[in-house]
Amino acid sequence: MSNSIITSAFDIDTIRADFPLLGEQMRGKPIVFLDSAASSQKPQQVLDALDYYYKHQNANVHRGVYELSQQATDAYEQGRESARRFLNAASTEEIILVKGTTDGINLVASSFGRKYLREGDEVVISAMEHHSNIVPWQLACEQSGATLKVIPVNDKGELLMDEYEKLLTDRTKIVALVHVSNALGTINPVEEVIAKAHERGIPVLLDGAQATPHMKVDVQALDVDFYTFSGHKVFGPTGIGILYGKKKWLEDLPPYQGGGEMIATVTFEKTTYNELPHKFEAGTPDISGAVGLGVALDYIEKIGQDNIAAHENALLQSATEQLLAIDGLRIIGTADNKASVISFLIDGAHPYDVGTILDKLGIAVRTGHHCTQPLMDRFGIPGTVRASFAAYNNEDDVEQLIAGVQRAARMLL
Ligand code: PLP
Repeated sequence: MSNSIITSAFDIDTIRADFPLLGEQMRGKPIVFLDSAASSQKPQQVLDALDYYYKHQNANVHRGVYELSQQATDAYEQGRESARRFLNAASTEEIILVKGTTDGINLVASSFGRKYLREGDEVVISAMEHHSNIVPWQLACEQSGATLKVIPVNDKGELLMDEYEKLLTDRTKIVALVHVSNALGTINPVEEVIAKAHERGIPVLLDGAQATPHMKVDVQALDVDFYTFSGHKVFGPTGIGILYGKKKWLEDLPPYQGGGEMIATVTFEKTTYNELPHKFEAGTPDISGAVGLGVALDYIEKIGQDNIAAHENALLQSATEQLLAIDGLRIIGTADNKASVISFLIDGAHPYDVGTILDKLGIAVRTGHHCTQPLMDRFGIPGTVRASFAAYNNEDDVEQLIAGVQRAARMLL
């Protein structure tokens, strides 16, 4: 099924055919996969790259003089180069291969925290953070005596920018913010957030877990200090992700973990560290993960992020309008600028029950607090039902969702 507003380069049927799992059944029904915000499906190109790597190139990296190890190293470093291009970073020295967004944030919170956070300092986050951009900062604050400050959100789920500006003081050492909210879909005004922080010389980390699958991210244009995302949400494998850091910061911060790979010389008295990016990559890395991630990022770039965004926006609008026509249904997260995540509640029905009925119909959605418990508290709700769209979803998926939610409403109310 093609959507008229999409350029001819974007052919949804061709894209869907790339994802084998979309042809599978769930509960005996063709699967309608609407939980890509949790983890995306993988295209054949990524699966083939993993298969090829293990069959033909598998060896440890950066260590062997032999041909196979050099091939594995080249394949691994190619993944890094794809990530550099994807984010438009100036150099691969600024691209650290990590386990995922959580790992990227922990790295910065730990290294930055050790070097820069002291008693009385402040770290600014927002009310819509995923737990992975809350807890690492809480740990860093506990260790240093610093305090966590939280930018509040309005009823639509948008940052209160005036309050944000008031929170920036001489005590603020770093701002850590989600680029796109996984629970609300809000696209935050990150350019403005960064500009305001930089006016005061404060660095900014962005959690790009939900932004990278849906829109073009240019770290140089953003002038962001740290940017991190997960491979498994951008059609890549689990266990791999990217942390971008400006070179000046990565050179400045102490290593996160110690071990092989991250050292230059070791004696019992003193260790010197490897150059960037290896200084932050202790131990044998996820080599096949990097290979698969590189192919996944190339795949997204080939489809075109603008095409993906336009396609998903069309699905988002269509689904939003049709869901709102259902009696008693309300959407949590109605920001003016939204990505393709719809969180909703049906008055009188528990989200879990709605999700269970949809599951029986072969429709995969997420229910619960979406790892954003403080945000759910802000809205006074235990959780939501969340449908999220990726490049491979189509109008049929939206139709199935609407029919399923209508049915759940009839059954539960
Ligand atoms: N941040 C956001 C906004 C997310 O949506 C997620 C995952 O759902 C994460 C961070 C954590 O990502 P991961 O579990 O891949 O480290």
